[in-house]
Amino acid sequence: MNRREFLGKLLPKQNSSLGNSRVSKPESFDSENSPTEEQKLQINTATCLAWNDVVCSSCADVCHARAIEFLGLFRPVINEKCDNCNECISSCFKGAINVC
Ligand code: SF4
Ligand code: SF4
Repeated sequence: MNRREFLGKLLPKQNSSLGNSRVSKPESFDSENSPTEEQKLQINTATCLAWNDVVCSSCADVCHARAIEFLGLFRPVINEKCDNCNECISSCFKGAINVC
């Protein structure tokens, strides 16, 4: 059983009307405030809920590229699939995803 299947059993069912719209690339891409190709995103392990043993996957849920993977259940990292779309930054209500 992978992480998504495991959490799916723990968490309440999500509104199916959201469907795949949650993982599609946003239409309103703000190029001025988005990281450039050279910039990388980094998850702040001090402020990220998941890195502090709280179940959270808001960032991974919105990532159309599946670029946020978890080491075990609680340690999300951003991998090389990231295309800097910026969507995960606004999805994190802890402000734990930063441009570095
Ligand atoms: S949404 Fe924010 S707090 Fe939640 S796992 Fe992602 S980086 Fe951590
Ligand atoms: S910026 Fe990268 S990690 Fe974040 S949602 Fe976009 S592709 Fe995924």
